[in-house]
Amino acid sequence: MPLLVMKFGGTSVADLARIENAAKKVQAEVARGYDVIVIVSAMSGETNKMVGFVEGTSKLYDAREYDAVVSSGENVTAGLLALRLQEMDIAARSWQGWQVPINTTSAHANARFVSIPREHIDAKFAEGFKVAVVAGFQGVSAEGRVTTLGRGGSDTTAVAFAAAFGAERCDIYTDVDGVYTTDPRITNKARKLDKIAFEEMLELASLGAKVLQTRSVELAMRYKVRLRVLSSFEDTDENSGTLVCDEDEIMESKVVSGVAYSRDEAKVTLVRVEDRPGIAAAIFGPLAEAGVNVDMIVQNISEVEVGSVKGATTDMTFSCPTNQVARAQKAMEDAVAAGMITYDGIVVDSDVAKISVVGIGMRSHAGVAATMFKALSKENVNIKVIATSEIKISVLIDRKYMELAVQALHDAFELEKA
Ligand code: ADP
Ligand code: ASP
Ligand code: MG
Repeated sequence: MPLLVMKFGGTSVADLARIENAAKKVQAEVARGYDVIVIVSAMSGETNKMVGFVEGTSKLYDAREYDAVVSSGENVTAGLLALRLQEMDIAARSWQGWQVPINTTSAHANARFVSIPREHIDAKFAEGFKVAVVAGFQGVSAEGRVTTLGRGGSDTTAVAFAAAFGAERCDIYTDVDGVYTTDPRITNKARKLDKIAFEEMLELASLGAKVLQTRSVELAMRYKVRLRVLSSFEDTDENSGTLVCDEDEIMESKVVSGVAYSRDEAKVTLVRVEDRPGIAAAIFGPLAEAGVNVDMIVQNISEVEVGSVKGATTDMTFSCPTNQVARAQKAMEDAVAAGMITYDGIVVDSDVAKISVVGIGMRSHAGVAATMFKALSKENVNIKVIATSEIKISVLIDRKYMELAVQALHDAFELEKA
């Protein structure tokens, strides 16, 4: 039997009516002759609610217990969707991560797949079952504890199943009808793309476009999974949505394909650290060990101290997610206490956002940075940190200008035009 993977995100299973709607989409594929593996998210809002419970109970919580709590939302929707399908006379069975088993690393809250053995689900299909409904976002560690894959992780579960079971396609059903030039919630000029290259999608996702979890795109690229994003609220067919595919399948080529933003960024500056060999390692080693996801890094030019101080100093600035600032500060205080570093102070700016423009066309076109900076300066938006790579340019700005900046860049690169 040909096999499809269908994933329904939180808004697509938000209540019983929407679960029924999802079940009808599954039913249509079964009627077309497919066996289906359905990956479900928790009902929208449920995971956030449980994260709140954990944080309200324990500030520097044990990640094993975090996973025990936050993984539970997916168990509910998996069971409910299986029941709804059974009501429609479709042979369906739900699976929690440990039952498959979805084997992952023990990196709680941020686990990665180790293996997804097919035998149990294959055996069920062989018995005549048509649908396996699998709880997304979760797995089980070698120690036998429940793990989760990081926020938005159900997308990655879906792609991993598509790869493991050789699915014809992996369809990600969500509350938008595809991948847009930017988040359609920020500007109504955003344009839906029919196709987007893996590499561009990977950058957009990792720079904040949460329509797909970054790792899902990574996996799809590596295992050549045909990955599609489409709406669960509209009638859809084989041509709906956005196909994420290889660069050479795409005819349209613009220098910039999309604008992404990330709201929850913080900028941390260590003031006057010693400027000596090894200082960066002494700072970023402990941050990594503390699980802080450092993103941009800027080291200012060295300033030779006249007067009382020992030698040259520099300011070291980095960005990380706002909810990791407390962890970062503690790691730095511990590094001072251990005699690894010294500094005059830590300055935290928790009100910044990161805006990025992405496009594979940048590889061969100059002037993208200039256009970007000009567009921002026209809106009087001050740039705090800049980072570039082959196919993206990112800036940190005050969060209050985030929407304005996205709109200005969308206009400046004429992304509304095909
Ligand atoms: P789900 O619950 O289905 O996983 P998400 O909320 O995680 O859905 O992702 C879908 C959301 O991603 C959309 O509602 C949209 O606001 C947001 N989004 C951000 N950037 C983009 C983009 N470039 N294209 C489409 N959607 C985007
Ligand atoms: N429910 C999880 C989250 O909200 C996983 C997902 O929806 O993909 O992050
Ligand atoms: Mg999502």
